[in-house]
Amino acid sequence: MEQRTLLKLVEELNELATVLLQQHNKPHKNLQNEIEEEMGDVLMWIKKAKKSLNKKAIKRRIEWKKTKLQLKEKFNSDWEA
Ligand SMILES: [Mg+2]
Repeated sequence: MEQRTLLKLVEELNELATVLLQQHNKPHKNLQNEIEEEMGDVLMWIKKAKKSLNKKAIKRRIEWKKTKLQLKEKFNSDWEA
């Protein structure tokens, strides 16, 4: 991955994390616009960074995470029933 892309992605991830934490810590404030902007920035740099990575490996990981989440949700709903 190109160094500039890597650093821009880290910078934008940091900005998104910061605004998400601000929203969590100050729930009375509405930071939706800022969150949407930072998420857009992150997604743009992820899209660029993905070009030099193995897309199939990323897709497999996403499917694995989705499956794990579904199992967890099913387990929790069965547990609560
Ligand atoms: Mg930004």
